[in-house]
Amino acid sequence: MEIKPFEKKLYLASPTSHGEELKFIQEAFDTNWLSTVGANINESEKLICEKIGCKNAIALSSGTAALHLAIRLAAEKLYGQPKVGHGALEGKKVFCSDMTFDATVNPVAYEGGEAVFIDTEYDTWNMSPKALEKAFEIYPDVKMVVVAHLYGTPGKVKELRQVCDKHGALIIEDAAESLGATYEGKQTGIFGDVGIISFNGNKIITGTSGGMLLVDDEEDANKIRKWSTQAREDAPWYQHEELGYNYRMSNIIAGMVRGQIPHLEEHIAQKKAIYYRYKEGLKGLPVSMNPFDEGKSEPNYWLSCLIIDRDAMCRQVRGEKDVLYVTETGKSCPTEILETIAKYNAEGRPIWKPMHMQPIYRMNGFVTENGTGRARSNAYIDEGTVLDVGMDIFERGLCLPSDNKMTPEQQDVIIEIIKRCFS
Ligand SMILES: *Cc1c(COP(=O)(O)O)cnc(C)c1O
Repeated sequence: MEIKPFEKKLYLASPTSHGEELKFIQEAFDTNWLSTVGANINESEKLICEKIGCKNAIALSSGTAALHLAIRLAAEKLYGQPKVGHGALEGKKVFCSDMTFDATVNPVAYEGGEAVFIDTEYDTWNMSPKALEKAFEIYPDVKMVVVAHLYGTPGKVKELRQVCDKHGALIIEDAAESLGATYEGKQTGIFGDVGIISFNGNKIITGTSGGMLLVDDEEDANKIRKWSTQAREDAPWYQHEELGYNYRMSNIIAGMVRGQIPHLEEHIAQKKAIYYRYKEGLKGLPVSMNPFDEGKSEPNYWLSCLIIDRDAMCRQVRGEKDVLYVTETGKSCPTEILETIAKYNAEGRPIWKPMHMQPIYRMNGFVTENGTGRARSNAYIDEGTVLDVGMDIFERGLCLPSDNKMTPEQQDVIIEIIKRCFS
């Protein structure tokens, strides 16, 4: 069979809109609430609280802004309010997910803190509770942990919580990718002391941009509302006692969010069908799909990913910005698959390159399950033991086209292309 390139590009994950969003955006115009105040904001916050089961959701300009304020809030609880011009985490270390988008960890640096990266585990591709326990042995003073749920798959929330409770540490939960996913029947975003979600354009639902901070405590919620609108005091003039930010969500964006929320379950069902179609279609190849804790968690299946068996990897060498590989019969590698599907006008993506491998964070600490730090590049396996799980998954894994609007026929073509990479 000859495969022709897709006429319209097949995206990794593009926005899926439904038209009702326009009604709420129009309403903002009609009522002239063209600001960071309005019914769309209030309603979106309410709908998210009902969905997730949190007491307060505060709509903000992005998931990153939400993470920044979440981290600032936790830092002030732990270490007090810093002098103006100083970060709330100066001189402090914070444990962070390692294999994630850099937005998860950058806000630690915004506050002058130092991220220490915790290695990943194979079961869910999220933070390893064992590595986290090791990290507390090495750095017993740490009191804050930033945990992400990768690609819509919940991490081992219970184990991570146990480790943190034992050491009196607060959890910031980055549920930017996992909105609607559950762990033991509960939504991600409420397991942390503070949680965040994102409505970035490629997430499971979108506001074109935007995010929310989720927190139960009323006083904390009010503080976030205040900080995100320039921290005005209750006075007749602009009175300031604390550092403020302009991080609130616009009522127009919130109209988009409001129109998308009722479609969350539908989007998850579409993504789930895509995941299982890949799983079925790739059977027999030396690959497996991104795993999850089957008895306990239900992902939102935001991105379908695969990982190639170790002995089916062709040689692939990655530098900082470029990559080489050698084609071999019966074998393949992420680069070959990504380049081949790109030739047919479809978009995949490498796995998030672990933070401890990023030049910007090369001096930061990194803790693996056996307590060692960084392995030398391409030396992550020593006598059969994997020393650096994140590096291993990055080497062998990739994200597949996972767009809601992809048809089964289009997906079958992608599956066929992957099969040919291994022939
Ligand atoms: C998208 C994303 C963010 C940031 O959200 P924005 O709304 O894009 O700022 C944070 N963490 C993770 C894991 C993400 O995927």
